Amino acid sequence: MGRIVAKFGGSSVKDALAMSNCARLAVKRNARIIVSSATQGTTDELVALCDLEGSWKLAQERLKVLEARHLSIWEDLKASDTCLEKLNELFSRLRSLCHGIYLLNDCSPKFRDRILCFGELLSTTLLVEAFRAQGVEAEFLDARTFLKTSDKFGAAQPILEEIASHVQGSVLVSSENFIITQGFIGSTLSGSTTTLGRGGSDYSAALIAEAARAEHLEIWTDVAGVATTDPRLCPDARPISEISFREASELAAFGAKVLHPTTVWPSIRKGFPVFVGSSQHPEEGGTWIRSEVAEYPIIRAISVKKSQVFLTISTPEMSQTYGFLAKVFDVFRDHELSIDTVTTSEISIGVTLDEVELANDKLLQDLASLGKIEVERGLSLVSLVGNRIRHTPGLLESILRAINGVNLRSICAGASKHQVCFLVESEEAGRCVEQLHRSFISS
Ligand code: ADP
Ligand code: ASP
Ligand code: MG
Repeated sequence: MGRIVAKFGGSSVKDALAMSNCARLAVKRNARIIVSSATQGTTDELVALCDLEGSWKLAQERLKVLEARHLSIWEDLKASDTCLEKLNELFSRLRSLCHGIYLLNDCSPKFRDRILCFGELLSTTLLVEAFRAQGVEAEFLDARTFLKTSDKFGAAQPILEEIASHVQGSVLVSSENFIITQGFIGSTLSGSTTTLGRGGSDYSAALIAEAARAEHLEIWTDVAGVATTDPRLCPDARPISEISFREASELAAFGAKVLHPTTVWPSIRKGFPVFVGSSQHPEEGGTWIRSEVAEYPIIRAISVKKSQVFLTISTPEMSQTYGFLAKVFDVFRDHELSIDTVTTSEISIGVTLDEVELANDKLLQDLASLGKIEVERGLSLVSLVGNRIRHTPGLLESILRAINGVNLRSICAGASKHQVCFLVESEEAGRCVEQLHRSFISS
């Protein structure tokens, strides 16, 4: 049997019991390469520590809470003294770095990544002990030794050839033991710590599976697979047993948090399938994401991307001329921002962006030099994902009928055969999903 990579998310390693479940599950499935997130909530805590530039007292209090949470897992696991020494050393380094932020009253993206990596370093130090408690040999491996990336701190890009050669020369492929490594973190060629962006452990696991030529990747989380919509949002959501790479990719890109948007890229390149299941309830089954599946329904699932802004740039100069769109896109390229949807009229262009991206005032200033800017906040992008969408006559009409009464701010259809989406006010998104689910999936 080929190699299996298993990734455990934050809720799957939230405490000693959850960690023991993960270890049991990995042993049962013979998944020898284990990629783990930080324990639930830890990365959020570390982000908050980076933002507490002026208050060392508050930082110390937060560090104590973080420390106590990890020490209680150590205690519940009845883990070794060596593990305790490692945890204490990690905490002492983390404390010094946080003190550095306080002294400098500043935290650069590079420094931030040096702090964020502690979440995964702490969880994996503990997870090794959960495996050993099952009586199996487990080795800790620092992902920064092989997961090589660009120096775009906070959103580093993997360097595929480097990762492949480092992974092939590492214990990930040569050892018979279970290897426990971190998701989310990597390092530049010169050794500076980087992170792949929030939720990036899924991507790390997929990159490792690709480089280790794994037979398949397993993503273990808090839901039994990918569902027809977010089960937290809509009680009618039901599990999907099989979904294609293309559909999963659209679903993730348009808000289904269960997968990081980049998770299936390595699978699309190399063809290996991905399984998604619940680490607490593996018996409930899950979803296989594959290149070819048995059925290709027109509407497979619905996703929601919250906290969107609709930005319009209008100028009469756009009329009867060429090159205006290129100028607008140049601004987004210069700010390294990706746009999800675009709509145009004779004298205006509308794009959607994540609200956080407007934190940068310079973006609006640069766009204002091209025309009149309008910004609408508090919006959500609702997407229907499936197959043959742009070739199905009457589909758009049935969608509009299903959400009759909802104020649509913009519609993006026609570019993809796998997806159609529209922008609505966030308060209306839940109702919209329920109505669409009832019309296209439940019935
Ligand atoms: P992890 O910490 O394991 O990476 P996440 O919180 O990132 O887990 O992702 C799991 C969550 O994704 C679920 O709890 C669920 O609320 C959400 N989710 C959003 N869309 C879907 C969907 N279509 N199917 C399943 N879960 C979804
Ligand atoms: N711990 C990181 C985060 O919370 C990465 C991950 O969990 O995927 O964003
Ligand atoms: Mg996640």
